[in-house]
Amino acid sequence: MTLHPTKSTGRVLVVGGGIGGIQCALDLADTGFYVYLLEKTHTLGGNMARLDKTFPTNDCSTCMFSPKLVQVAGHANIEILTLSRLLALEGQPGRFQAQIEQAPRYINADRCIACGQCAEKCPSKVADAFNGALSQRKAAFLTFPQAVPLKYALDAEHCLYLTKKKCGVCQKICPAQAVAYDQQPERTVLDVGAVVLSTGFDLALTAQQGEFGYGRYRNVVTSLQFERLLSATGPYDGHVRRPSDQAVPQKIAWIQCVLSRDAARNRPFCSSVCCMHATKQAVMTRSHEPDTAATIYFMDIRAHGKGFDDYVERARDQHGVRYRRSMISQVYLNPENENLVIETFDHHLNRKLEEEYDLVVLSSGFKPADGFADLVQQLGLVTNPYGFLATEFDTPVATSRPGVYVCGGIEAPKDIPETVIQAGAAAAAASMLIHDSRNAAVTVQEAIRERVLEAEPRVGVFICHCGTNIAGVVDIDTVVADARGLPHVVLATDFVFTCSTDTEQTLIDLIQKHHLNRVVVAACSPKTHEPLFQDTLRKAGLNPYLFELTSIRDQCSWVHGKTPAQATRKASELIRAGVARAVRLEPLQDHRYPVVKEGLVIGGGVGGMSAALCIADQGYQVHLVEKGDRLGGFAHHLTATLEGHSPARLIRYLEERIAHHPNIAVHLKSHLVAHAGHVGAFEGTIDGMHGSQAVRYGAVIAATGGKAYEPDEYLYGVDDRSLTQVEFARRMADDPAWAGRLQRVVMIQCVGSRTSDFPYCSRVCCSAAVKNSIALKEINPEAQVVILYRDMRTFGFKELYYLKARQQGVLFFRYIPEEKPAVYHDQNNHMVVDFTDRSAEQNFRIAPDLVVLSVGMRPRDGARKLARLLKLPQTREGFFLEAHVKLRPVAFATPGIFMAGLAHSPRFIEETITMAQCAGQQVLKVLSQDEMTTSAAVAEVDPDQCAACLVCVRTCPFGAPFINAEGVSEIPPAACMGCGICTSECPARAITLKHQTDDQIVAKIDALLEQPS
Ligand SMILES: Cc1cc2nc3c(=O)[nH]c(=O)nc-3n(C[C@H](O)[C@H](O)[C@H](O)COP(=O)(O)OP(=O)(O)OC[C@H]3O[C@@H](n4cnc5c(N)ncnc54)[C@H](O)[C@@H]3O)c2cc1C
Repeated sequence: MTLHPTKSTGRVLVVGGGIGGIQCALDLADTGFYVYLLEKTHTLGGNMARLDKTFPTNDCSTCMFSPKLVQVAGHANIEILTLSRLLALEGQPGRFQAQIEQAPRYINADRCIACGQCAEKCPSKVADAFNGALSQRKAAFLTFPQAVPLKYALDAEHCLYLTKKKCGVCQKICPAQAVAYDQQPERTVLDVGAVVLSTGFDLALTAQQGEFGYGRYRNVVTSLQFERLLSATGPYDGHVRRPSDQAVPQKIAWIQCVLSRDAARNRPFCSSVCCMHATKQAVMTRSHEPDTAATIYFMDIRAHGKGFDDYVERARDQHGVRYRRSMISQVYLNPENENLVIETFDHHLNRKLEEEYDLVVLSSGFKPADGFADLVQQLGLVTNPYGFLATEFDTPVATSRPGVYVCGGIEAPKDIPETVIQAGAAAAAASMLIHDSRNAAVTVQEAIRERVLEAEPRVGVFICHCGTNIAGVVDIDTVVADARGLPHVVLATDFVFTCSTDTEQTLIDLIQKHHLNRVVVAACSPKTHEPLFQDTLRKAGLNPYLFELTSIRDQCSWVHGKTPAQATRKASELIRAGVARAVRLEPLQDHRYPVVKEGLVIGGGVGGMSAALCIADQGYQVHLVEKGDRLGGFAHHLTATLEGHSPARLIRYLEERIAHHPNIAVHLKSHLVAHAGHVGAFEGTIDGMHGSQAVRYGAVIAATGGKAYEPDEYLYGVDDRSLTQVEFARRMADDPAWAGRLQRVVMIQCVGSRTSDFPYCSRVCCSAAVKNSIALKEINPEAQVVILYRDMRTFGFKELYYLKARQQGVLFFRYIPEEKPAVYHDQNNHMVVDFTDRSAEQNFRIAPDLVVLSVGMRPRDGARKLARLLKLPQTREGFFLEAHVKLRPVAFATPGIFMAGLAHSPRFIEETITMAQCAGQQVLKVLSQDEMTTSAAVAEVDPDQCAACLVCVRTCPFGAPFINAEGVSEIPPAACMGCGICTSECPARAITLKHQTDDQIVAKIDALLEQPS
């Protein structure tokens, strides 16, 4: 549906400050909209702020999330409203009035300097909800060290003054006179063009339910409590301890599907992320405490995301995590030691089994955030029976109310990358609605004048504890003392979190106060944090290239965790080297150039079509290149989705819109055959039916899709009674009478998926089997349908269809890869299937009418060619490799190039549309700018030294250098990624990598070789 908003305001309201809301706010604010980001608690962060590490990369969640929090906190076009709720929404799409109520913080946020004295002196101690009540905090508190905004608050339920008019100590000692006991709730009305709801989810499990002893037994904790328990900022400083006696548990059990997949308690759906987070927690436990045994009790392992199966295999094989497929009968307490006994039933032995554990972790299912039902009622929205927001398959981020969109966990339980993708799509949907008011409400930040530098280097060294990530191993006092003695260092000091928002202001103050003209931060990794600190320098009036990040976390505390003295010495030595380089750093200026305001989309499937429309609907021209003779791609083969939608109708609708769209040029039977340039200014050649056409584009989306694996097993291609799921669905749709005659059908899962060559799960096949078995049962209830599976992966609400299939009498038998089913002909040419059911440990022989294969998904052959042309990385299976698995799932490392759909990994149609819209919004970040800047840290050729030997041209992985009209190599600054390969390969030493000059690197090496005095 195309909405025509009344004159819009250029402002958007985003409700919910978890990763979904934050990413959506950034995606809107970076494309010219003003965003109110509403959060009901004291701080942004949501569930992600509580996580320790994230699967499947084991990245530190805090380290990943902090830069985002700082970015959102410092964004000129995002206004954060904490302790706030949306009460009512009046008006029309494009012109809503949102009524907001803000609860009192009892601390004046404008005055609070986050010194922490109120918390220090506060006499009232309460259970710390952020740490799952496993530790205590004061009634005057900061939720967590990186909280945004970094402002203390008083807990009205426990503050002695607010409850009994006693105490008042915080007001007496606050040096900023920020304590305001008389604050009252305030109501405001905001004019906004669109609303995005991103209110996330809570755990369904509560202490009152008493499930498996939770709330009664101290050593039964939830998955979220266990995240805090693992965290360096958690109740036990990141050491694995159990609550009752703080002893290191020797045996920990995870119980999966607690209040998930539980029809008896009206919670039949799957919570999607629990199998993976339990695996991650078990892996992290084993890395912290190698002697602690980790066992996961599960029904099916749902590792349906990119790289997930690999992660589970590594957990099992390399980390020794034990997986036990069983349902738990009960958990009871051993009163002698507060251990827990888990009772299961063994069907083979036909008896109960018991095993004792020191600690039990319950992987609780999810429910919408508290209070969400009231909001739904106020806004008049439609939810599913479990309270999650309902969306349509072709508009996957639109709610039932026009102009109100959704992203993240409140649409359905999902992990971080899927949340980030949906956040981008929600931003795209909102900005498609109100694109006419882009830039109407934003403030343009004035450039800060750079200070004139003193001749003498004045270095400041800031050393980060990173909670206990660094300080738990490295002796910070020694490192600070060593840094103070280094030449040119005028200040060396330390911070618990150098990347937190309050520290940012402190750094700015210190740089200005001490006239620092070089800054060294010794902390985590330049990969994630260098841009953040460079921005701090900019705000302090220093050129951002006068900055050095020394990694004393990755290179010291993490790799030398068991030898703290050596880790400390190495940290001091690396800082010495960092300072030596810093004094030689020169101010550099970034490059500016105009943006080509057109986009290019390669691949005309549902992903490419949706991405093109997303760009075109926002007023920009886009070329859509498709190698085939029609748009639609793989979806043409599909008859219906699991939920009953028609892909054919979707294709027709998209085709119709594209055909009449003034901003889209479709190139059928065409290929991109040349591509050069850089973000904002690419140029290429499209070869097609009408010859070659030169095109220019600011950004590009690769949506080359996927294809089905063509099996050479199970008699496929030999006997036409062996079909794929897609072929079976088509045949049933074309000839229901044929389906009505089938008496017995066997479906085999994981054909060409989860194998040694293609170790990933193809995500859609379990749903395809369930869908087709239901369809057959509906045509022919008497038909026997047998599904041979390894794990049924009907994640999220797709689980409801799995349940329905079982209710309709579809039979499910589990096989293991070592005992694959055998399909063959008997002497009468009947098809026969032999298989072993692992659950009952029984062998079966069936003679079906039909064998239906759930074949895996593969990237299209063309992807490799495109990858070579655009210089894009691929996984070993041939899918495109994203820049960051968690936070940049649709971006390549090369700026200006994005991906969508099956080219990234197997996914459903609605997921492809979502991803395409997210990618479209990333393209808008480029096209909506008039001018772009790129880094000054690039390679530069000295034409007098260049012998035009072509070594740089051949070695550059990004294709940046070329031989210019003067016959020497030239490297366009915006195309250079600063990797330095050409610099080190050039035989004539004619290339200098600015910001990494020989002089700077040699100084670093010399400093490392120096013996400390
Ligand atoms: C134990 C556990 C471990 C996990 N581990 C991983 C992992 O390793 N990797 C991974 O990818 N994912 C993991 N996840 C999933 C991940 O946490 C979610 O994908 C992600 O947090 C969802 O983000 P969100 O913004 O949608 O929701 P949330 O994080 O729930 O954020 C929603 C925000 O909205 C606020 N809010 C709610 N209602 C309102 C309202 N009415 N008004 C204003 N504000 C409101 C909330 O206070 C909250 O701040 C894990 C989840 C759990 C529970």
